[in-house]
Amino acid sequence: MVRYVYDFTEGGREMAGLLGGKGSNLAEMTRLGLPVPPGFVITTDACRAFLTTGGEPAGMSREVSDHLRAVEEAAGRLLGQRDDPLLLSVRSGARFSMPGMMETILDIGLNDDSVLGLAKVSGSERFAWDSYRRLVQMFGSTVMGVDGRLFERAMAELKDRRGARDDVHLDAGDLAELVETYKTVIRRETGEDFPQSPAEQLRRSILAVFESWNGERARLYRRREHISDDLGTAVSVQRMVFGNLGPDSGSGVAFTRDPATGRPGLYGDYLPNAQGEDVVAGIRNTVPLGELERLDPGSYARLRAHMETLERHYRDLCDIEFTIERGTLWMLQTRVGKRTAEAAFALASALADEGLITPDEGLARVSGEGLARLMFPRFDTSGHADPLARGLPASPGAAVGAAVFHSAEAVRRAAAGEKVVLVRQETTPDDLPGMIAAQAVLTSRGGKTSHAAVVARGMGKVCVCGAEELTVDTGARRFTAPDGTVVEEGTVISVDGSAGAVYPGSVPLVDSAVMRFLETGGTDEGTAGVVDAVARALARADTVRRLEVRANADTPEDAARARRFGAQGIGLCRTEHMFLGERRKLVEEMILADSDVTRDRALAALLPLQRRDFTAILEAMDGLPVTIRLLDPPLHEFLPDRTDLAVRIAATEARGDLPAAHDAELLTAVNRMHEENPMLGLRGVRLGLVVPGLVAMQVRAIGEAVAERLRAGGAPRAEIMVPLVGDVRELRIVRDEVRRVLAEVSEESGVPVDCPVGTMIELPRAALTAGRIAGEAEFFSFGTNDLTQTTWGFSRDDVEAEFFSAYLDKGVFPVSPFETIDRDGVGRLVTIAVAEGRAARPDLKIGVCGEHGGDPESVHFFHFAGLDYVSCSPFRVPVARLEAGRAAL
Ligand code: ADP
Ligand code: MG
Ligand code: MG
Repeated sequence: MVRYVYDFTEGGREMAGLLGGKGSNLAEMTRLGLPVPPGFVITTDACRAFLTTGGEPAGMSREVSDHLRAVEEAAGRLLGQRDDPLLLSVRSGARFSMPGMMETILDIGLNDDSVLGLAKVSGSERFAWDSYRRLVQMFGSTVMGVDGRLFERAMAELKDRRGARDDVHLDAGDLAELVETYKTVIRRETGEDFPQSPAEQLRRSILAVFESWNGERARLYRRREHISDDLGTAVSVQRMVFGNLGPDSGSGVAFTRDPATGRPGLYGDYLPNAQGEDVVAGIRNTVPLGELERLDPGSYARLRAHMETLERHYRDLCDIEFTIERGTLWMLQTRVGKRTAEAAFALASALADEGLITPDEGLARVSGEGLARLMFPRFDTSGHADPLARGLPASPGAAVGAAVFHSAEAVRRAAAGEKVVLVRQETTPDDLPGMIAAQAVLTSRGGKTSHAAVVARGMGKVCVCGAEELTVDTGARRFTAPDGTVVEEGTVISVDGSAGAVYPGSVPLVDSAVMRFLETGGTDEGTAGVVDAVARALARADTVRRLEVRANADTPEDAARARRFGAQGIGLCRTEHMFLGERRKLVEEMILADSDVTRDRALAALLPLQRRDFTAILEAMDGLPVTIRLLDPPLHEFLPDRTDLAVRIAATEARGDLPAAHDAELLTAVNRMHEENPMLGLRGVRLGLVVPGLVAMQVRAIGEAVAERLRAGGAPRAEIMVPLVGDVRELRIVRDEVRRVLAEVSEESGVPVDCPVGTMIELPRAALTAGRIAGEAEFFSFGTNDLTQTTWGFSRDDVEAEFFSAYLDKGVFPVSPFETIDRDGVGRLVTIAVAEGRAARPDLKIGVCGEHGGDPESVHFFHFAGLDYVSCSPFRVPVARLEAGRAAL
């Protein structure tokens, strides 16, 4: 027999799935002996049954009657009894807290008769009529579907007529009149009378709460919070207690500690002579909880004691709702309270100190996302103008600088010591120098995984992208905001990457103490609390985690920073950035070479430059592994844009001049190399097989750098990684070449140079033939960005802007697979490749580079998939360390 109803005395918080958060915690408080008005909970099972069949499940109403009888017996009165009515509240409460998203109906059991009885026994006519008008209003709007504004309007009109500032100034007669008005509104709107039968009021209220699960507000909230639509809500039915019985009554909300900082002490608000709904609704001004100590010291002391009981019992910060009825304190709700990131860390540390939780529990209660939030500087927007525009919060943090519209301008101004914000419609790899030079990047186009967003996040740089309200005119070097404000080059703006907003002028910045600590190891005065707490959590994570954490870094500066952040090596050193800037000429020469001689000359010129890059990075990471990826992107990315070039040539011709021979040559090459789908074109290992001398040059540069470091007494640990391999034969060819070149270098230098050779697994075919590939690879590194693109058949740069928002809305996936790894598809390929790779080569080292390496949920997946390390951008290293620790708990 399924049971649909549990008395508060029968449940506990372990039953949250069945009784909802609110119901199970009411039961828990009852079990603890705290003063909770008696009641019972109708289960989420009943709600689900009701929502699928549209009818009450069999037996539910009988169970409700039985439990109601118990509450009536305990109270010694009946629901709605004429002379002394028992009143009830009917409250929603799902497994996960959805504050204010569903319905609650108070004062059930009042009607035209019992209101008089209530007036008599309470000795207050005003209170009785106030309660009745609340019931008619809530029942009318929630259960009978009348537009709530009609009631509010009737109330406002009456207050106007009486000249009453707020509803406390309405007397019993006014409220009785209001009840009549409300009843008329209901009749007019629904053609039905407000039901006088208490039993009918109760039954319909319960069903209305069930139905509120599917209300628009609730659905929207669930989507945003990733709460499943099939959970359903429980319904708590509870005896009413009254905070509106006069000045010795009232209601309040409280936290056992400060939810903003985690500091101990009672925090909350109290409202004398009011029901709890008035506190949250903000209709009247509350007083700080401390005032209660003066108003009612007895209740205050009891409240403190109960809160301490709760905190010790839940071993966590709790928030509560309470009501005082004529000097008697009642506990109406509790739950483990929501908190800021700062408070989460401070609390975990403090509770561990107090011995309430273990260090591992402390670690479980903080999060990488929270840590990331604490690492970014913040804006203090109080007293500042409204934003100029909003966009997507692509990379969090706050930055101030002069708007500039071209990469070169950003570089020029930054070199002169000016802080700049690079503003573009969208960015391309060409903008990289400007992005590096800028404090923040602002684009009017593109989604959260657009080039600007991805690169900015990788660099820990503030970015707002897709600010479509802005008209960006890079030619005229200005943008226009929707309110007509024109921002010319050089004008200072503020970019809030956490909120996705752009402000005019300079919004003051608050530095992050946590970041300063991570960068320097130092602590500022007054911030020791949160910084210590972060340090402790990280130390614990480092003790328990199995996953190593490496960083993606392409420069010695990034490598050094990553090391300070705790990186245990470089998991991805891209070499394409080393082909930009003034080296572009040489790269162009290499691409355009029409003979081996010219090509060799270009490659030979690149060699010492690359060697210098590698030497510096190996030095910064001395003693730790540095995984260097051979050139990956399609070569035409290093040539000028096809259209730009064509326009330039046409303009020259239009002036009657002959286009530069070099331009014409370039255009031919660009046209020859043009690809419809460059991401699936000539790139990765394919370049190495097609462009003579490229692999040899890169490997030689690496080998010579290793030899140089060895001679200098260092401990270089370069690893050579081949991208985009789909078949073992591709890898074999490159690997033979690597061996040949390293042998040459060893011989020439007289220093034995050996580097492990491995491959990226970023094509489904590579994952599916991982066993064979492992025969030639000493390590695997999952390139989950490309693997996600190729598994889904999504082109990341295109799909984000076009249809991801629709996919997210329609629930195809709860979060972009480029943000959090798609376990079912991409994740399965990872699992297969790990198993087959290790079967072929038991000591195969396996890691992941790509953005997922710094995403908390994905880190947990990689832990369970048995990887050896994750590699992410330097700024995510502390986040990954923390989450790798949490995954191991
Ligand atoms: P929410 O989930 O939106 O907070 P609640 O179920 O907590 O909704 O109800 C809102 C308010 O109604 C509570 O804050 C409380 O003050 C009041 N309330 C609920 N049940 C009772 C009760 N049995 N007696 C007095 N007030 C109640
Ligand atoms: Mg509540
Ligand atoms: Mg790739």
